Amino acid sequence: MNSKQAGKYRKLLEAKRAELLTRVQAARTSEQEGPSELAPDLSDRATSTMNRDLSYQLTTGEREMLKRVDAALDRIEAGTYGECVNCSKKVQVGRLDAVPWARHCIDCQELQDLGQL
Ligand SMILES: [Zn+2]
Repeated sequence: MNSKQAGKYRKLLEAKRAELLTRVQAARTSEQEGPSELAPDLSDRATSTMNRDLSYQLTTGEREMLKRVDAALDRIEAGTYGECVNCSKKVQVGRLDAVPWARHCIDCQELQDLGQL
């Protein structure tokens, strides 16, 4: 993959990352307006502390997505973006267009979906 192509996917990934983080920021802002800081009960305070963890605001699926997006950006930096992390073959461009954070080529993805990877 040349740097122009990589730049295109980097933009897509960064946009997705910003979208996910914007959702975290919105959740944090609404929490700060709430009364949770004044909760006298210890268990409530513990919950409130956990809520300050950035990724805690995301659903499991969104957290997983953020991890994949970050990993894909790392691969762009490392120059290995667009290669399947399992077999090192090129991931199909159409697949990257649809799923820029894809780690596997279509063959390995099928294996993973079957639980064989
Ligand atoms: Zn593969």
